[in-house]
Formats: sequence, structure tokens, C-alpha cells
Amino acid sequence: MRKYLFLILNLLFSSVFAMPENSPFPGGLVLLDIGSSEWAKFANKEVMVLKKISSNLAILGIGLQQGPGEYQIETQEGSLSFSIKPKAYPIQHLTIKNKNHVNPPKRDLDRIFREKREMNEVFKSFRSEKNIDINFSLPSEGIISSEFGLRRYLNGQARSPHSGIDIAASLGTSVHAPSAGIVAKIGDFFFNGKTVLLDHGQGLITMYCHLSKINVNEYEKIEKGVKIGEIGMTGRVTGAHLHWGVSLNNVRVNPREFLN
Ligand SMILES: [Zn+2]
Repeated sequence: MRKYLFLILNLLFSSVFAMPENSPFPGGLVLLDIGSSEWAKFANKEVMVLKKISSNLAILGIGLQQGPGEYQIETQEGSLSFSIKPKAYPIQHLTIKNKNHVNPPKRDLDRIFREKREMNEVFKSFRSEKNIDINFSLPSEGIISSEFGLRRYLNGQARSPHSGIDIAASLGTSVHAPSAGIVAKIGDFFFNGKTVLLDHGQGLITMYCHLSKINVNEYEKIEKGVKIGEIGMTGRVTGAHLHWGVSLNNVRVNPREFLN
């Protein structure tokens, strides 16, 4: 009887709190069983820890610039090692008509750096939150037109890799929160256009760019599925789409890792 109860509980928990898969390469996630440790740190920075039935699970985002090799995570009960495997992402060439968006003029650089700082402040935050639903729903209906990690060239010039996924849909298509959180920032940025940043807790931040309309206010607490805005083509774009970014422990990871 006990055995069956445990099985049923496990099934219930795994459907309600479905976990991403271990994807130990740049842009992926490392999942580590940390026993009863309440916290974990990587490179002296706090890492997301979720409670499971029998033990706790540390979930670490791996940045695209992180090289392959052996690494260590610190926990309350000592250090644990894990390895990062290499991963090669494809190359993508894009043509941008607005030349100021390829090589911004000097007068825009101050604004660009200021906006980058503002967004980084949000990405760096670590808000303690125990119940985080990391089983995301796709924020908008549409076609995934550009994958995460693509090594991009704008008009032939190398740029930083694609830090999110693009969902192409018609102007005005609704964008919904994939999980509950707090609206950490809204703004109209040079590259990203009208943007919403959601803080889901424990360093998990999601970002929605190029919106035509924003339907939420800064610092508002929102539930999963709430409409946060509409797809647009503000900022640096080649057409109407949503750029959806996911950041964990201040590195950008593939949003697909959080989709079932
Ligand atoms: Zn994008």
C-alpha cells in the first residue's frame, strides 16, 4: 500500500512540477541532486534550489561563453563536481535595413550602455521564492522563426549569439506570462524595443521584446497566463516577432529547456 501511495505521489508531483532535463552544455541547464542542502553556489553566486520529495535539486544555467570541462558547485554539505560538454550552434546571416541598428551612431551609445546596465541589474537579482513553476507554457502562439544560440552576422558583421528564441506571429498577437512572477522592468529600449522583464524568483528572469503594446505595470505581481503585451516590431527587428529570452543565475539559456 505504501509503495503505491509513494508511486501516486511521485506521479502527481512529476506532472505538477515537471522538471527540465539535464542539458550540461553552453546555453543549457545542469541539474544536480544536492541532498538536504538548502543552498548551492557556483562561482560564489547563488544558484536556484528547488525542493523535491526526497532531496533538493540545484538548477544551474550555463552561459554560452562557458567552456567545456569539469566544474564544481558548492553546497551546504560540501562541493559537487559536474562536467560541461561542448555544443556547436549554427551560423545565421541577417540583413538589417536600418544601418543605425547595425552600427549605432555615437549619440546612441550612451543610451545603449545605460539600457544594458538597467537590464543587467534585473538579470543579476536573486529574489528568494520557494514555489517556482519552471514548467513554462509558450508565451505566444506562432512559429519559432529563430532558435537560441545562433551565431549571428548582421549585414556580414559578427554579433553576439542569439540569446533567446523568436516567435513570429502577426502584429497584436497576445503575449502571456509563461509562469507566475513579478514585473521587474518595463521599457522602450534601443535594440529590444518595448520590453517586459519578469522575475520568477531565485535568479530566473524572462524577457519579452519588440512588443507593440505593454499590458502590465512595473512591480505588478502576475499569475501564469496573464496577458503581458502584444507582439510588435519595435526596436531592432526584421519583422513582427516576439524575442523571448530566459536568464538563470545571470546567464542567458535556451527557453526551450523550460518547455515541456
Ligand atoms: Zn531574437
